[in-house]
Amino acid sequence: MADNREKMLEVKNLKKYFHISRKDVLKAVDEVSFDVYKGETLGLVGESGCGKSTTGRTIIRLYEPTDGEVIFDGENIGSKLSMKAKKNLSRRMQMIFQDPYASLNPRMMVKDIIAEGLDIHHLAKSPTERMNRVYEMLETVGLNREHANRYPHEFSGGQRQRIGIARALAVDPDFIIADEPISALDVSIQAQVVNLLQELQEKQGLTFLFIAHDLSMVKHISDRVGVMYLGNMAELATSDELYEHPLHPYTQSLLSAIPVADPEVERSRERIILEGDVPSPIDPPSGCRFRTRCPFAMDVCAKVRPKWHEVEEGHWVACHLHDEELKTEKA
Ligand code: SF4
Repeated sequence: MADNREKMLEVKNLKKYFHISRKDVLKAVDEVSFDVYKGETLGLVGESGCGKSTTGRTIIRLYEPTDGEVIFDGENIGSKLSMKAKKNLSRRMQMIFQDPYASLNPRMMVKDIIAEGLDIHHLAKSPTERMNRVYEMLETVGLNREHANRYPHEFSGGQRQRIGIARALAVDPDFIIADEPISALDVSIQAQVVNLLQELQEKQGLTFLFIAHDLSMVKHISDRVGVMYLGNMAELATSDELYEHPLHPYTQSLLSAIPVADPEVERSRERIILEGDVPSPIDPPSGCRFRTRCPFAMDVCAKVRPKWHEVEEGHWVACHLHDEELKTEKA
């Protein structure tokens, strides 16, 4: 269906395989497709091991893609890139990492951590301009100038994540991949960091890919949400549509696990409890990868991989229950 919004990122049939032994291949990301529109936040969720972080890291080229296309602002960045193009990309696309303890160099002062990108891309014309940018970034993320001359170990987890955000923002990026940026933080700090990211997005018109395993937090921050399972996309829709009309049994089960504040609604809700664990991505189930845990699995689910298709405008799903062509064939 036609959509006139401008695309910041197009991910087409992206694959990332890891050869872990001579005969074993881990298919971490297997034919994943989605778009991210300019100025939006797309949440990408799923249990650990579903491939969401690998998808983010492959998009930003921390991993070389095995196959597929990544088109960033009209340019194909999934293929071989010139040094110049790589450098430009590394400025425009930034990543905020999950672990604020491991992602900051303990031997560098905060001012040098934040200014690292400015130095690499020669964005500050003088030492004064460099320091002014560092101060500006510290203030933007709710820290202050005095923090510039300290080392990461002098900060709490939440403050370190703010430093990580300041580092990402310093080079004036267009697109930020936030890879579980709050999961290593105390619950009391998580909302503060999420609110900060939301504020920054509104003020600076940034585009975000927000990777998380917590569906409730993603709803708060995302315009649209994509759900991944075992290296595949299961469903994608606007946040409201996904939370109100989930189509994929996996999304339904994830949503049914989120507690509702109203005790009456909570009591009357039906929980969908999934049987078993997530299978190994080295030897995933045939057909639909979710079939070993799906309460609605049919014969066809073991034989045919469900098509990733748009069932209604903007609502994508990969499930035979919602494949009109398959229903017509059966009838
Ligand atoms: Fe369940 Fe089949 Fe749909 Fe997969 S394709 S989610 S197994 S009904």
